[in-house]
Amino acid sequence: MRRLTATVLMTAGLVAGAARAEPAPLMTVLLKPSAMTAPADGHVDVTVTVPGMDVAAGQPLFVLPTMAPNMPSPQPRTDLSVTDADGAVPLVTGQTGDAPWTSSRRVHGEVVARYRLPIDNARGSGPPINLRIDGASFSTPGRMLVAIPQSGAAYRVAIRWDVSAMGPGAVGVTGYGDGDVEIPAGPPGRLATTMFAGGRFSREPALAQGGFSALWGGEPPFDPRPLMQWTGRLHGWMSRFFKDEVEPPYRVILRSNPQNPGGGVAMTQSFAVGYGEGTDPEALKSILGHEMTHTWTAIEPLGKWWSEGNAVYYQELLPWRAGQITTEQYLAGVNRTAMRYYANTRKHTPEAEVADQFWDDTRVRLMPYDRGALYFAVLNGQIVRASGGRRSVDDLVRTMMMRFRGGEEITEAKWLEVLRAELGEAGPATHRAMMSGQLVLPASGDYGPCFRRVVRKARVFEPGYDLRATASDKVVRGLVAGSEAEAAGLRDGDRIVAAPFGDSMQHDHARVVTVEVTRGDQPLSFTYLPRGEWVDVYQWERTAVPETSCR
Ligand SMILES: [Zn+2]
Repeated sequence: MRRLTATVLMTAGLVAGAARAEPAPLMTVLLKPSAMTAPADGHVDVTVTVPGMDVAAGQPLFVLPTMAPNMPSPQPRTDLSVTDADGAVPLVTGQTGDAPWTSSRRVHGEVVARYRLPIDNARGSGPPINLRIDGASFSTPGRMLVAIPQSGAAYRVAIRWDVSAMGPGAVGVTGYGDGDVEIPAGPPGRLATTMFAGGRFSREPALAQGGFSALWGGEPPFDPRPLMQWTGRLHGWMSRFFKDEVEPPYRVILRSNPQNPGGGVAMTQSFAVGYGEGTDPEALKSILGHEMTHTWTAIEPLGKWWSEGNAVYYQELLPWRAGQITTEQYLAGVNRTAMRYYANTRKHTPEAEVADQFWDDTRVRLMPYDRGALYFAVLNGQIVRASGGRRSVDDLVRTMMMRFRGGEEITEAKWLEVLRAELGEAGPATHRAMMSGQLVLPASGDYGPCFRRVVRKARVFEPGYDLRATASDKVVRGLVAGSEAEAAGLRDGDRIVAAPFGDSMQHDHARVVTVEVTRGDQPLSFTYLPRGEWVDVYQWERTAVPETSCR
């Protein structure tokens, strides 16, 4: 889940950045869903109209994936046609498969792509990211729905819905709001990273008036209303905290997902939750806090240490300050992050090396999240002390966002200037130390007077082999001598079938992993605790300071 989360957020910052672009051509996406009458009986007709294209023969026209992780069969498309100023466009690729659509001739002028996407829930994937029918509704990330033009140009986008076939009360919704919407100029790829849903829904609040709204077409095994009311209150509070004059749209779409219940996928101004039997709505609060923070603070050019670092820093801090979680819940969140970081054997990886290893090793992938969050805590402590309590890191984050929203190009050098103005040379020094991989350690009182730092013993997260060297061809390499993996029987040369080293495993010290391999022709599986040597880890505990002085 986290993997997808990170993927789709790469473009989240573009939404805010789009507002400053020059007037751009208007591309139109028309969506006409059928009635959704059964889990395999529905379709969506899509028409994408793009003005002013000029694409040479053989060059990519559109991209529309047909596969998502764990889908048993590709998403078909039927009735595909593309026309341009010269009439029907002869497609070479595009009728099937994931390859970019290409034509045997130059394509120019207004280009119109039409196609139908039949929906069958049996094509369900693990993460909630394919087309799916729930009740009398469908939902999907734009990635599987909208053919994205590859011209490289920026477009304003009109999203138009024709839900007349879906019956009375039907509505079309995206992360950009309800019904027909027009979004400012920006790269068309952002349509891939927001949720689309159409049909008849239960909603919370029942009437969306901009801002927050949650929707579900099916019947979750729990009542989503309390969690969604919680989320809506937090969204409003965060809008004010981040000084938004208008609460931006945010849509949470709940879908059934028998393959991977409880998983969430963050999209632009939207969030998809897959529910199943046994889904714990409480467990979704941190991730909702995290993903909504991105709506305001994502500044993609600064890098993951910024966007993920401040999202983890704020994911429990803001719900706590808003009075929406208890002090104990907040402290548990702080300690979860600290535990993962201090028990991470890759914690000295320089930030500049993270991107290269991001998908290969969960330990490296979480560096910008965990180290980034602790870095913001360190900065906050420094700023609070230097200002005698008058200022905090919130002021600096808000400054950067205001400048970004105002259209300014934001660079790391500008962040260093802001730090220098606030803290003198100590500010940039703290930043450079974090970026270079030096240990990031908040002072005992950096989370406020109600918490103090303590040292505990914990075992480092140790998968038992080299995740990175194994990533490309799934052949186990670098087995760690004396590791739990070795003791369980895993060997170099085993071929991985499944090795579910999810990101959440790193802070869950009791969680065992089952690695499935083949050795020769023989299928084998090894279950072990992915933990290595004992080390000191920093945690925080509650002081005797009364609750009223905490937040
Ligand atoms: Zn994130």
